[in-house]
Amino acid sequence: TVDPSTETFVGSIDQGTTSTRFLIFDTKGEPVAIHQEEFKQIYPNPGWHEHDPEEIVQSVENCIEGALKQFEKDGHSRESIKTIGITNQRETTVCWDNKTGESLYNGIVWTDTRTAALARELKARPNSDKTEVCGLPISTYPSVTKLLWMLRNVEKVKKAYDAGTLAFGTIDAWLIYKLNGGPAKNIFITECTNASRTMFMDIRSMEYSDEMLDFFSYEFDMRKVHLPKIVRSADTEHFGKLETGSLKGWPITGCLGDQSAALVGQKGFDPGAAKNTYGTGCFLLYNVGDKPVISKHGLLATIAYNFDGKPIYALEGSIAVAGSGVKFLMHNLGFEQQSHKITELAETVKDNGGLVFVTAFSGLFAPYWIDDAHGTMFGITHHTERGHIARATLEAVCFQTKAILDAMEKDSGHKLAELKVDGGMSNSALCMQTQADLVGIPIIRPKMRETTALGAAIAAGFASGVWKDFGELKEVNTAGQTSFEPKMEEKESKRMFKRWEKAVSMSKGWIA
Ligand code: ADP
Repeated sequence: TVDPSTETFVGSIDQGTTSTRFLIFDTKGEPVAIHQEEFKQIYPNPGWHEHDPEEIVQSVENCIEGALKQFEKDGHSRESIKTIGITNQRETTVCWDNKTGESLYNGIVWTDTRTAALARELKARPNSDKTEVCGLPISTYPSVTKLLWMLRNVEKVKKAYDAGTLAFGTIDAWLIYKLNGGPAKNIFITECTNASRTMFMDIRSMEYSDEMLDFFSYEFDMRKVHLPKIVRSADTEHFGKLETGSLKGWPITGCLGDQSAALVGQKGFDPGAAKNTYGTGCFLLYNVGDKPVISKHGLLATIAYNFDGKPIYALEGSIAVAGSGVKFLMHNLGFEQQSHKITELAETVKDNGGLVFVTAFSGLFAPYWIDDAHGTMFGITHHTERGHIARATLEAVCFQTKAILDAMEKDSGHKLAELKVDGGMSNSALCMQTQADLVGIPIIRPKMRETTALGAAIAAGFASGVWKDFGELKEVNTAGQTSFEPKMEEKESKRMFKRWEKAVSMSKGWIA
């Protein structure tokens, strides 16, 4: 075993939409141990998507044990792990009872569209455009609509509300509460990039906004719901420590919503830096510096990170379906049973053969925000093969990214010179090449693609002095990147994109 005083590591809990991971990074940003576990995706009705909150906590605990076992087998000692960071799927909403610490319903996942009617109702209320205050338009996506739905429809949630014991939180708050031992210590906090996805927070003051709380209090009083205290992304005082397992007593000193974490993991610290993460969904974040930019073109204003009380903001383009489209082909349509085989299938055809697949399984997010768009395939002929469908599924993400970049250019007045990418679907070279062709700029893919987990480790490491400034991260994850250069003629990529836009306009208004 190596002497722990000579080594330094940072642990990172990455609680994603389809799987949980625990990674242990060295100070060069190399993961030396990793354990990953998938958990149940619950789809009780069309458009509904839930997670079992208790299973999520269990998966985190299992991943810590799994990675630690490997870490120690390789001769490292747990004492050399200085601190732990958390990154998590955003918006997904958990309600629990703050006396018992038990969840009162499944977590409603960010992709869930059961609140489409509720969102329409909210939008029809006077002065409903609150993007200036919270950065987000009303839609099924932010946490607040999910909370309102639970208050209306879940008996246990309503009862806890009446009893004054209803606690609301996104996954960061839920995990921090549970990992700290629940009601015994009652550590009830949320990190600001996560809080900026609820619609309750004023993105400038980073406090709960009275205007927002008032707006949403027309049926239930939002001040009767316990909301977690909002804290910074890097913090040695508030996140507490692990209360169980082999790392019992280890401090948590950093937390970031997954997309913010990926921006940090890609070292997008300068205004103008951008990254696109192709995971279950796909999210483009563009660093706009120390003042929020409120979009006029369908993007979100969000907190990128807040390490020291001076928040950095991002413009965000969110795409609901990316890798989940690949999984749909695998699980629902019985295509090849491995993700990379879907890419291989797409490679069996030379182009999409005229097929466009608007993968609007959760409506369409940025920059369109069409809640009632439905998944639609256009251009099916006798020529259409499974390869075309696979290809069109990958392309759908690339088209939406193109639309988002166009919107970003309008909002910011700048054209990106290159786009950094990561996430599971960025493994697909075909998808990345298509992306370069459609947006006309190089797509840069790092060798180590666990950038989300790395971002959380960086936040935690900054708080505990493992790294002291951005300069120390210069060498982290820079070697061995791949660049995809645009190859397609502009005329052709324009023609493809025009067809996509037409398909989008025809995907809305279907009676479900
Ligand atoms: P998340 O963190 O949101 O759970 P990941 O970043 O782990 O997601 O990405 C997983 C997604 O990437 C899955 O939906 C998977 O189908 C997709 N994926 C992984 N490898 C490939 C590939 N070679 N081609 C296409 N899709 C892929």
